[in-house]
Amino acid sequence: MRAALDQAAQAYESGEVPVGCVIVQGRRIVGRGYNRVEALGEATGHAEMVAISAASATIGDWRLEGTTAYVTLEPCFMCAGALLLARVDRVVYGAREPKFGALGSRTDLATVEGLNHRYEVVGGVLAEEAGTMMKEFFKSLRRDARVVESGGLENRCGGNSTEGSNPSLSASLDDPGPDEADSL
Ligand SMILES: [Zn+2]
Repeated sequence: MRAALDQAAQAYESGEVPVGCVIVQGRRIVGRGYNRVEALGEATGHAEMVAISAASATIGDWRLEGTTAYVTLEPCFMCAGALLLARVDRVVYGAREPKFGALGSRTDLATVEGLNHRYEVVGGVLAEEAGTMMKEFFKSLRRDARVVESGGLENRCGGNSTEGSNPSLSASLDDPGPDEADSL
């Protein structure tokens, strides 16, 4: 998870929402990724998606059997689904994501019946560090927004809100509900 937090820090430095992911097989990191939605200009540029691609290239197989994915934030619907399709054995995540989190918060794809693959899920690992980085990021966005007053933020963040690229995430992390108080 430390390595995943390092990836998240790289996203932060690139002006991206700080989420990082590493995929480990045995004791070897086979894939790394950090959020690159802005850099790629694609909604699918999440840390997990980048790490899955990297791990598939390293292993030489789209089936990432025998691997564990470490993610700093609870995976969204897309990423939790992609991790199922990639057949990872285990998903370990940090902070919870109340709006889009698909491994326990908004829904739980790990418990859907009838799939041909399941993974084990462990949440809340180094959650405070991951959550703090996220809060700092959105705080700095708002600071920047005050400096420029208006405009620019939408372009930078790709969102339609002055709160940032992921308004719901921003709002939810700013105002964690009782469930999130522990993990954030
Ligand atoms: Zn995602």
